[in-house]
Amino acid sequence: MKTLTVSVVTPNGPVLEQEYEMVVARAESGEIGILPNHIPLIAPLSIAAVRLKKGNDERHLAVNGGVMEVSSNQVSILAQSAEKPEDIDEQRAREAKERAERRLQSKQDNVDYLRAELALRRATNRLNVIDK
Ligand code: ATP
Repeated sequence: MKTLTVSVVTPNGPVLEQEYEMVVARAESGEIGILPNHIPLIAPLSIAAVRLKKGNDERHLAVNGGVMEVSSNQVSILAQSAEKPEDIDEQRAREAKERAERRLQSKQDNVDYLRAELALRRATNRLNVIDK
């Protein structure tokens, strides 16, 4: 079967470069599945898991926003941050989740709710990817 060369890069460097048969990502417009010979595409990504499939293997990455570009069977994901499940510190993600939840529940004027909401989504995404 034909494959896609998938590369995931963050400001901290490359996270992954490997061949897969299918990529499923959550764009801001909805879920997108990419198979070989997909038409060229650029899509902004949500804070969500990216699913990478090859045969019966499926692996998930926690991807924090960014952009996915598809061209000539190359899928490039440039993200603010992205982690493989084995690289996620579960305790840190739990603490980040609790911190964000406390901020969202507080009634103080100086809370940046959007920032807390995004932190909550990043932490929840990491915990979901560990659970897969
Ligand atoms: P925290 O509040 O714990 O820093 P965050 O969501 O604000 O979480 P980010 O700004 O998204 O963190 O990421 C900063 C860097 O830390 C990135 O390199 C990211 O991959 C890494 N990172 C964040 N949380 C975790 C985690 N739970 N496990 C491993 N790496 C993490």
